[in-house]
Amino acid sequence: AKKMGKNKYVIFDENLKNKINKEIQIKTTMNQALVNNEFKLFYQPKFDKNKNIIGCEALIRWIRDGQIISPLDFIPIAEKSGFIIQLGNWIMEEVAKVQQEWLNKGIKLEISFNVSAVQFRNEKFVNDLKEIFKKSQRNLIEMEITESVFIQEKDKAKTIINEIRDYGIRISLDDFGTGYSSLSFLREFEIDVLKIDKSFVDEIYSEEGKVYVQTILNMAENLHLETIAEGVETEEQFNILKSLGCKYFQGYLFSKPLPKEEFEKFVLSYS
Ligand code: C2E
Ligand code: CA
Ligand code: CA
Ligand code: CA
Repeated sequence: AKKMGKNKYVIFDENLKNKINKEIQIKTTMNQALVNNEFKLFYQPKFDKNKNIIGCEALIRWIRDGQIISPLDFIPIAEKSGFIIQLGNWIMEEVAKVQQEWLNKGIKLEISFNVSAVQFRNEKFVNDLKEIFKKSQRNLIEMEITESVFIQEKDKAKTIINEIRDYGIRISLDDFGTGYSSLSFLREFEIDVLKIDKSFVDEIYSEEGKVYVQTILNMAENLHLETIAEGVETEEQFNILKSLGCKYFQGYLFSKPLPKEEFEKFVLSYS
């Protein structure tokens, strides 16, 4: 038993070492990756109940030597190192650029982008955002935040959200229902859209699962908030969500996030 215990320890140690090495590698190559244009935004379409495309969400990918690195692997590291500020600005700049490109091609869609709490709390955030979207059609831009922006300095977060809304950009509350403070968030902050987390969509087949989603949808309606369900993978989930009154939908049932050119083709050939 002792020997096994020792082996286990060795295995654990190796895994940890690999994990740390991977982290260090990501951390030390991220800056250069931005310079080398290795970051790309992918776009996942959003749909209404008639399956019309109403917009899309921009999701970042790091493409290194033909391999896609998931944001789940590098966003937390970028947050820790502070690189998320630069990367976050690049994301917003890219969204502004792509919107202009699409409008020129006759593609008029709302685009949402994700903002990390660390980025949101940076004191230059609002100024950078305003500068970047100065010439944009801001009624077609949406910012997705999570409850984590609310944990520190609530009053400051409130001011920032209001300032961005006053600038004409809509606010969407991502992963709704997964945090501890969802209700107080809605009481404290002016937002436009509730994004129902995939975990609720996964559970929607059960009676209990339906009750949760119905409760969220009723509340959203009473508060005049739009609703979108994320992670919709089956026709059945789509139908149940529709019957419960959910307004918009996003998920693999319709499309995975696509590189820009593929997304454009998808939109232009979709009817
Ligand atoms: P999120 O904002 O909640 O994004 C939804 C995630 O679910 C995306 O993963 C998307 O590709 C995935 N997804 C969409 N539909 C389905 C589906 O039907 N089934 C399943 N299983 N998954 C689906 P992704 O792109 O890997 O992003 C993961 C997370 O990384 C995002 O979660 C977000 O928190 C973060 N992230 C992604 N892009 C950015 C970004 O540009 N900036 C920041 N700050 N965070 C980002
Ligand atoms: Ca999101
Ligand atoms: Ca989400
Ligand atoms: Ca998430």
